[in-house]
Amino acid sequence: MNIITELNPVINTLKESEKLDYIRKIIDVQQQINDLINENHWLKKEKDRLDRKLEVWNQLKFEDDAYWLKGKSDGMQGPYCPKCYGTEGKLIPMVKNGEECPNCSYSRRKIRL
Ligand SMILES: [Zn+2]
Repeated sequence: MNIITELNPVINTLKESEKLDYIRKIIDVQQQINDLINENHWLKKEKDRLDRKLEVWNQLKFEDDAYWLKGKSDGMQGPYCPKCYGTEGKLIPMVKNGEECPNCSYSRRKIRL
């Protein structure tokens, strides 16, 4: 069942009776319903995106100038670049023994100097 097409029989009946004002009003309401459906769909997708982001955030720990992701066991995964996570929301694994970010050149070694 489509909430918008459900009104089509009403529109057809009104067309036969030539009640144009009512037809225009129903079409306007159909458009408003359609806009609300689209907005609701977007809001659900945005909620899912933010839920996933919050889930990652709750698993992150900042330590030794980098982010670490809590694993399913007791271990930690990482280090991940704090600059890339802070600016782009991306978890970029650091390279060169976990000292440098391959994306933005952030260096844990330079922080310690
Ligand atoms: Zn980075």
